[in-house]
Amino acid sequence: MMKTTRTALELHEAIQSGQQTALSVLDDVYNKIAEHEPAIEGFNCLTQELARETAREVDRRVQVGETLPLLAGVPIAIKDNINIKGYPTTCSSRILEGYVSPYDATVYQKLKQHLMPVIGKTNLDEFAMGSSTETSALKITKNPWDLSRVPGGSSGGSAAVVSANMVPLSLGSDTGGSVRQPASLCGITGIKPTYGLVSRYGLVAFASSLDQISPFGQNVKDTAALLQVISGADELDSTSIKNHPEPNYLQCIDQDISDLRIGVIQELQNDAIQPEVLKSIQDAVQTFESLGATTQPVSLPSFQYAVAAYYILATAEASSNLGRYDGVRYGQRVEEPDSDLHTMYRKTRSQGFGPEVKRRIILGTFCLSSGYYDAFYAKAEKARELMRHELRKAFEQVDILVCPTSPSTAFKIGEKLNDPVNMYLSDIATIPVNMAGIPAISIPCGFDQQHLPIGLQLMGPHQSEARLFQAAYAFEQKTGLCNLIPDLKIPPKSEPLI
Ligand code: GLN
Repeated sequence: MMKTTRTALELHEAIQSGQQTALSVLDDVYNKIAEHEPAIEGFNCLTQELARETAREVDRRVQVGETLPLLAGVPIAIKDNINIKGYPTTCSSRILEGYVSPYDATVYQKLKQHLMPVIGKTNLDEFAMGSSTETSALKITKNPWDLSRVPGGSSGGSAAVVSANMVPLSLGSDTGGSVRQPASLCGITGIKPTYGLVSRYGLVAFASSLDQISPFGQNVKDTAALLQVISGADELDSTSIKNHPEPNYLQCIDQDISDLRIGVIQELQNDAIQPEVLKSIQDAVQTFESLGATTQPVSLPSFQYAVAAYYILATAEASSNLGRYDGVRYGQRVEEPDSDLHTMYRKTRSQGFGPEVKRRIILGTFCLSSGYYDAFYAKAEKARELMRHELRKAFEQVDILVCPTSPSTAFKIGEKLNDPVNMYLSDIATIPVNMAGIPAISIPCGFDQQHLPIGLQLMGPHQSEARLFQAAYAFEQKTGLCNLIPDLKIPPKSEPLI
């Protein structure tokens, strides 16, 4: 159905002009959550007090005539692997039960500086490992377009709550596609920025050389505004880009794209892709041509190694990053009287971690072990370098590359959970972007026959976010797809709320 509520930027203007108070905007959000959360199950916790405090401050400043910072007053949800001081960070894992964060993530500090009320923390695949949010130890989040289907993952909670129109904006994290793929499956916009553009300080590490905090929005402009708010150098993250000029994506977002050169990735145009998805991407390419852009096929043969290389590198990094959950330094400890230290470690980990996380720790440790390092880890690094090299070459010919974000639309809950390789293939089109550290955006480009959303992915060279937003915005203006939201039935009153 057509969306009738305000966009994030419109809400901000309404608050600034005194047309609506930030507190009333927040009330609307919590009312929608009370209505739809029982069906969607996107939140791990709500942070009402924190949000109200920020909203009150916004309203106070409006009353004294202050000009508010960008997006002030606009409610936002954040993935539950980003720390807020004094609140739990669960990573949707049993092992972090009882953990309360002693510090704020840099992105949260930025949201605070911009007076954006954080309304709650959202569900994810355990430690962001998965493509469906089903590996969460806490709950199963549903896709708002069809409640029997997954929202994608790992940032499925953040995608679902924006898609269900409970909240206009959210944050996720993207290591191999965890923001773009759920954006695609839920019919919203998500961008994975250039590696280092957004500080990772306070994001629970999965695979540090690939992780990047990334925004979701209901349209391109809102998403661009949010990226503007959260990006920037941070001395607390040694990998953050130090000399990036302060971005203003909104200023030139409506620029003409008739000089745009688009490459269509040939390796993602085959029968591994659902036919309706392929057709929708071909139509999208024609839409770009009608906007004046030129298109050409581009071949990137190294993409065939992407999934295999990723599952070596990402699991290797994860096996090292997750070493800290040992029952001593963090969270839950499983201990029996008279048990020795090793038994405590073993029991804590075997009861605290779910099967997917264990699989990855074992795989990663194996790939790094003596005798196998060269055969697996070193080889995967070479594949990564090849991908970087081919992408660099491609961007000498074209400005952006396009392909489907996900090989299929949303799949049924339970369909792929016991078939890890099939699940891993969900990220076939998104992984190369993290491997190369470049930015990519996913935007809705159509629907399949079951009325499930299809996502188009646009990739650009390092720090080309402004260009990606321009192309995505031009496409969105032409298709108007961002105005469609799922028609959610209100559950009967007897169902428990949250
Ligand atoms: N689905 C991929 C994985 O399971 C990517 C996850 C992510 O981006 N956090 O590793």
